Amino acid sequence: MSWNFKTWRQHRILTHELVPDNLWQGAVKRLRFLRGLTPDELERLRQIVTLFLHTKQISGAGGLAITEPMRVIIAAQACILILNLTLDYYDDWVEIVVYPGEFIRDYEYTDENGIVHRTREPVSGESWPAGPVILSWEDADGIGAEPGYNVVIHEFAHKLDMLNGNANGYPVLHPGMSRQTWSHAFNKAYTDFCRQVETGEETVIDPYAAENPAEFFAVLSEVFFEMPLPIKQYFPEVYEQLALFYRQDPAQRWSDL
Ligand SMILES: [Zn+2]
Repeated sequence: MSWNFKTWRQHRILTHELVPDNLWQGAVKRLRFLRGLTPDELERLRQIVTLFLHTKQISGAGGLAITEPMRVIIAAQACILILNLTLDYYDDWVEIVVYPGEFIRDYEYTDENGIVHRTREPVSGESWPAGPVILSWEDADGIGAEPGYNVVIHEFAHKLDMLNGNANGYPVLHPGMSRQTWSHAFNKAYTDFCRQVETGEETVIDPYAAENPAEFFAVLSEVFFEMPLPIKQYFPEVYEQLALFYRQDPAQRWSDL
């Protein structure tokens, strides 16, 4: 094998700067979705987290001071999505900004009649194509959240979705996956879900997922890792596509516990 600078550098970082044991164990205890991972998978995740923290800059906003445990907790959530992919999926941007709690999103959009609107709304996370991810620490701290809710996984799912343009619920699929099967599974599930939300039926996942196909993909990704069994039960075709895309089977992990 030929010598490769990137591999050599990564090896050096992992040898000398692996996330320390106490910080790593603290994050593992705190993050429910890590249960069921094998010791090998956890160690591999720790390595990806170490490299991720080397390439990303995590800064506090609104007076929030970022500590080492916070960095590891955020990174572990961001990296579960790429446990069986590669760090290259997060290559085209550097910055993560963290506010103490919800922050105000101030943006303009043009409606179908060409009228420009200006909106200000409090949000817990936001991600920009090839730009920063912005998070609320209150929502990203890994504890106290509603079951199935995970703002970090949500925003990083958008990041993966945005690798081929604007977020639209159609990320780049792996060779061997079928675009047609993906579209069929997601379109059908999304249409059914929107109808449930419109008629006021109780839903298994956050009704916010009905907002648009990009949000549907991001919310399902959260629940795929956080509460995989109901997703497999209620959205079996979508579950199968997500398992192929993330190259993970969290429902299997959970049912083995
Ligand atoms: Zn979203």
